[in-house]
Formats: sequence, C-alpha cells, structure tokens
Amino acid sequence: MMRDIYEILKKGAFISKDDIIKLLSLSDQGHEYLIKYGHEIKLKHVKNHVYLRGIIEFSNICEKNCYYCGIRRDNKNFKRYNIDDDEIIETIKYNYDRGLKSFVLQSGEITNKNFIKRISNLLKRIKREINSELRITLSLGEQSYETYKEWYEAGAQRYLLRIETSSEQLYKKLHPNDDKHSFMNRLKCLENIKKIGYQTGTGVMIGLPYQTLENLADDIIFMREFEVDMVGMGPYIEHPDTPLYQARKELLTLKERLDLTIRMISVLRIIMPDINIASTTALQAIHPFGREFGLFAGANVIMPNVTPNKFRKLYLLYKNKPCIDEKSDDCIECLINRVKIIGDSVRIDDYGDSKYYLLKKQKINKI
Ligand code: SAH
Ligand code: SF4
Repeated sequence: MMRDIYEILKKGAFISKDDIIKLLSLSDQGHEYLIKYGHEIKLKHVKNHVYLRGIIEFSNICEKNCYYCGIRRDNKNFKRYNIDDDEIIETIKYNYDRGLKSFVLQSGEITNKNFIKRISNLLKRIKREINSELRITLSLGEQSYETYKEWYEAGAQRYLLRIETSSEQLYKKLHPNDDKHSFMNRLKCLENIKKIGYQTGTGVMIGLPYQTLENLADDIIFMREFEVDMVGMGPYIEHPDTPLYQARKELLTLKERLDLTIRMISVLRIIMPDINIASTTALQAIHPFGREFGLFAGANVIMPNVTPNKFRKLYLLYKNKPCIDEKSDDCIECLINRVKIIGDSVRIDDYGDSKYYLLKKQKINKI
C-alpha cells in the first residue's frame, strides 16, 4: 500500500488526475504518509520559512450574492461598514512598526468609479507615507482590465481571486445565474491579472455541497495549468443566513473537511513545490491548530487578521470565525510562537515573494 503511494508521489509535477483522486481519498496511515511527504517536499523547496500577510478586511459592503457567503448583498441581518483610508493607513503603519512587511486589502466586491479611485489613492498613500517597498495584495473581486492595471501601477504587486471551483457546472450551483456571477468572467479576470504582471493567487473552497473528489483533482490541475503563483484554499463552512445553508445535510463533517483540505495542501505542494500556499483562517475555525496542520502539510504563508477590532464581528463570511475577539498584536505574537511548535520559523522581515513567480520571471528574462 505505502509502496503504491510512494510510486505515485515520486511522479511529482506529473501526477495524473486519477492518481490525484487516489491521494485525496487516503485515510489513516495513507493520509499520514501523504502529509509527511508533502512536508518533506516543502522543506526541500521553500524551507521551513513562514511568511506573514496582515489582512485588513476594510469593508463588508458587497454587490454580489454568492450563495455561500455571509456578507452577500441580500443578507440584511448585520451592519455594513467601510473603514476610512486614514484608519487603514494607521492600521498598516502600526503593524509595519511591529515588523509586518506584507499586507492584504480585502473587501466585498464594489465596482463603482469612486471605489476604483479610492483604492488607487490609498495604494499611493501607503507607498508614500509608509514604505515604497511594502508588498500589497489586493483581494477585491472581479474588476475590469483597466482597473486591475490602474491598481498595479498605483503599487499593488499581488492579487488574490479564488476561482472557488474550476468546474463551471458546480460554480453555477453556488451562484445566481446572472452576468454578475459568470464563471467565464471570473476566469477572464484571472487571466487579466496574470497578464498585467501581478503575482497571481487563486484558490477554491473544499467540501462544498455537490463537490466531488474529481472536482478537487480538476482544481489542482487547473492551478498547475494556469501556473498560479500563490494559492489560498480552505474548507467551506456553512453560514445560516445564506441560501447554501439548505444543503448542509449534503456536507462532509467538519473534521472530514479539515482532513481533505490538508490532503489538498500536500498534493498541491508536491505538484507545485515552489509556489506560496496559505494556510487559511477557515482551517482554524474548524480546529484550534488547523492552520498549523496546514503549514505542516505544505503551506508556507499565514494571514494574521489585523482588521481593527471593532469591525471584526461584522466580516463573517462563515460561522465560528476565529480571532474576532483578540487584539491584533496578540495575533502576531501568538503566531510566531505557534509556528515554532511544528518546527517552522516566521520570516517577519522577508517580503516572501512567490519563488515560483521569481523563477518564471528569470526564465522570461533569459529568452
Ligand atoms: N469579495 C472578494 C473577496 C472577499 S471573499 C471575492 O469574493 O473574491 C473571500 C473568499 O472567502 C472567497 O473567495 C471565498 O472563497 C471565501 N468564502 C466566502 N464564503 C465562505 C464560506 N462560507 N466558507 C468558506 N469560505 C468562504
Ligand atoms: Fe461578495 Fe466575495 Fe462574499 Fe461573493 S464571496 S458575496 S463577492 S464578499
């Protein structure tokens, strides 16, 4: 049995779809074996270094209505907020002074002209008032090519846009059927982001209702073929005030979703050994050490939540979101120590650019 698994794992980047499905179905000793192998590949290619990205969830206002998400437009059961630019700058500055060099700006999807200008100005201010070398990742959903380009030129170097699932059929079950929720547009956006030159991040939710292991194997193949630089994938966690809550009887248990996510991380690390992989907050929502499990299995990035405290309870994409009561600085300190437990080391001073992205760029420059 272990010999068979080893024969598959040895193929690395060339593992076939059928074999990915086999790996994702492993349990018990087979599961443990896969995770240890993922761990070794990680150490070999990206060392035991962990990079931090302070994430600021600066607004929960959203024009979209994704069936799974707690802050979707039609959910009226909570208050909407929008943190103003001065407070965002202050938050970044505070955390920069404590050592963080990389930040993620995330919000619901807003596409109007004012918002586009506002983000451009904010990026310029961050670069001017704090440090021009700071790495800024945007996670602001689907925008036009021109908007992505404007923000890139204003100073953002990375963009995160999860494809959510690479199956168009499944995508349709998770979103309303209208122009604002088109699978093809999401794909087009990802292509534009890559073309402009961003370090491009995508990801999927794991353990969605109606999702099969074949879908997840296709997700990994999609990431490989798209040549993504960074991935953030996490378990789907149901939210009571969303339409998809109806399908909760179809779901795997939370523990199964956690283990499946961990296997996805290991398989992805083995297939794309040089990329950045985030161990997401949703893992921690399932298990207090969920993120550490993700790091052990192959992830090398964590995203401490640095959103000012008073807003955290209002950015609830799913149930049981962790860290909403803590002070942001406790989060960073505790992360540094927790990461040590699994033998990893936080590189707070390193921008942590994706090695895969840098290698790709070197190749292009040589031609
Ligand atoms: N509005 C932007 C960014 C914020 S949402 C966007 O959609 O791209 C960020 C991510 O949260 C989404 O990509 C989705 O994968 C995840 N998410 C939303 N609802 C979730 C849920 N119920 N469980 C787990 N992840 C969820
Ligand atoms: Fe809005 Fe993003 Fe949630 Fe969809 S996933 S409803 S776009 S915040």
